[in-house]
Amino acid sequence: AVSIFWFRRDLRLNDNAGLYHALKSGRPVLPLFIFDKEILDELEDKDDARVTFIYETIEQLGRELQQYGSSLLVIYDKAERAWTNIIKDHHIAAVYINHDYEPYARKRDNAIKEILSAHGIELKTFKDQVIFEKNEVVKDDGKPYTVYTPYQRKWYSSIKPFYLKSYPTEKYLKNLVKIKALPVPSLQEMGFEKSTMHFPGREYKNVIEDYKEKRNFPAIKGTSHIGIHLRFGTVSIRELARTAYASHDKTWLSELIWREFYMMILYHFPQTTNHAFRPEYDRIQWINGEKQFEAWCRGETGYPIVDAGMRELNATGFMHNRVRMIAASLLSKHLLIDWRWGEHYFARKLLDYEMASNVGGWQWAAGSGTDAAPYFRIFNPDAQTKKFDPNLEYIKKWVPEYADFSKYPKPIIDHAFARERCLKAFKAALAK
Ligand code: FAD
Repeated sequence: AVSIFWFRRDLRLNDNAGLYHALKSGRPVLPLFIFDKEILDELEDKDDARVTFIYETIEQLGRELQQYGSSLLVIYDKAERAWTNIIKDHHIAAVYINHDYEPYARKRDNAIKEILSAHGIELKTFKDQVIFEKNEVVKDDGKPYTVYTPYQRKWYSSIKPFYLKSYPTEKYLKNLVKIKALPVPSLQEMGFEKSTMHFPGREYKNVIEDYKEKRNFPAIKGTSHIGIHLRFGTVSIRELARTAYASHDKTWLSELIWREFYMMILYHFPQTTNHAFRPEYDRIQWINGEKQFEAWCRGETGYPIVDAGMRELNATGFMHNRVRMIAASLLSKHLLIDWRWGEHYFARKLLDYEMASNVGGWQWAAGSGTDAAPYFRIFNPDAQTKKFDPNLEYIKKWVPEYADFSKYPKPIIDHAFARERCLKAFKAALAK
């Protein structure tokens, strides 16, 4: 009998909690990856860069496993059907996975657990992608925090060296099943094309010490761009948090804690993917102008900072955090377009798309979320530009025609007008 380790968003051999426990089980470990048809079928773009990223990572994992005389079993199917077949083909003692907190993944994992259990196979699950999960950092009365600062305080007071320690997976890789290289379905067979997008590397240490000073300026590379690696587990959160914790300035660590905060929120409030965290905000009468939405998506709002951000996003799959806030605010507050439309567009385009953080970021911008900016605080895109892109370097990089700004199209909506309209719409919804 074998143990199976099922890779999902933890695509690495080193410091991997579930893989470590599988390898220590004493049985040979068969590593598995499923290209889940249910997820892939939802994607709108045939050249979705995240699929290429996963694909290339899977190929790399396969090569690494071959060095241990092993291979990766790669299946393209719906997860439940894939498992029904795997059970037929293999004599399985136990299956190991790492936790995934997204609503779809939780439902899927429960279904797989039942299928396995009907065959007497145990599903063993582990925390891997965060330092603290679920109910590990909660208020004294056991309820989840809904405000970041006290959550962060509790996170700090709960941390012990144990939580930051890596799992020494390497030591046990000899326990992998010995098999010949298995075939991998091609991207084309799965209906995708290879993306030509550039993927950021895994360096992050160089940004930590100056992060506080540099993180707000989109024209400089003051942030790590490591989001995609956190998303797919091609880096270990323990390594990142350990390094950040040991550094002099803890601002970057607090960003990693924001990530965990939003994952905890998503776990406890899964309805917030589609509903306002503060329910009264679901009463807002959105205007949802389709033409304006399309102009926003293309980066043609006439607000150069927003246009630069949207064009950066469309071209690279990345947008600077400061600009994400400004662009999201413009959509939800100036244009009164439902934040879910913007969330959906970001989800389609961001290489570092993370459901918990994206929903959290959008609800923050719309005013409906945890810790949200109060609705009457409405970003002024020009004032934001003066503060954070004073020499217009970022704007000119992504919107070169702005060099002659006398010819740049006028904003699709006037700031003062939009501000008043927004205040009225939000007040009306919240007064009910
Ligand atoms: P760094 O600044 O170097 O930070 C390191 C890591 O910390 C990030 O990779 C990320 O994992 C985490 N982090 C940083 N800031 C935040 C934050 N505010 N909330 C949660 N985690 C954070 N982040 C995502 O990872 N995925 C998303 O889909 C996403 N959507 C967003 C949507 C909106 C409207 C807004 C305002 C923010 C969103 N963020 C999202 C948060 C933040 O903008 C990105 O994490 C950050 O810009 C990624 O750049 P970086 O990797 O260089 O991060």
